Amino acid sequence: MDALPHLTVATHWFSTTWVTGRTALLTEPHIHGLIQANLWYLRGHERDLLVDTGNGCASVRPVLERLPGRRDHEVLALVTHAHIDHVGGFHEFDIRLLHPAEAEAAARIGEQVPLATGQWSADLLKDLADGGFILPPLLVDAIPRECFDPAAFRITPAAPTHLVQGGDVIDLGGRRLTVIDLPGHTPGSIGLLDEEERALLSGDAVYEGGLIDTLPESDVAAYVRTMERLLQLEADVVYPGHGGPFGRETLHDIARDYLRRAGG
Ligand SMILES: [Zn+2]
Repeated sequence: MDALPHLTVATHWFSTTWVTGRTALLTEPHIHGLIQANLWYLRGHERDLLVDTGNGCASVRPVLERLPGRRDHEVLALVTHAHIDHVGGFHEFDIRLLHPAEAEAAARIGEQVPLATGQWSADLLKDLADGGFILPPLLVDAIPRECFDPAAFRITPAAPTHLVQGGDVIDLGGRRLTVIDLPGHTPGSIGLLDEEERALLSGDAVYEGGLIDTLPESDVAAYVRTMERLLQLEADVVYPGHGGPFGRETLHDIARDYLRRAGG
């Protein structure tokens, strides 16, 4: 096995960008692109919501508490699906929202070693290599604190406290988010629609880049229905699970492109 690189401690683990006055994007720039997922922080009048929680290498709650203009609100956490790059910080929150079809995967998440690819299953690595993803031994280029061993890191699993699915409404006070079922990437993938802002938080259902539908838990037929549904959705901006926000035209391009390829 190759010697692992020496890594320095990052000054800041999370990077924060406000995309509107009440929506912020947090990322983990020291994590490899494959598992560098977005954390979306949505502010309401009565409570706030974090959509997806990162890899869990560093604690995200203190970062949220230090954001400018923060009031002493409860912060709820919702994960769009139970993959390692979305559920890492789930355990830090008292109120945890998840689709029922993802609960079992969330409970098993602690069995995985997310940052050391040498310990990933051969099947997954082959699948990723077929998709053009050649991965380094460690998926970080820095560490969040002294004595953090990326080769031994495991996520602390957390069961959801509330199950949510399509049609449920999460009311943050002056800001209502409707849960939308977007299965395909995983069986219980969900998104959120902010009808007032015409914004869709899409998780991994859509983003600009190669979509992943070849995992054991993926379902292409369900993904096709999800893409058909996204073409009908009243959304002008998408806040995706990976990469930057994009508009309605790009959403339609991604959906139509998927439908074309899936149709053979
Ligand atoms: Zn995923």
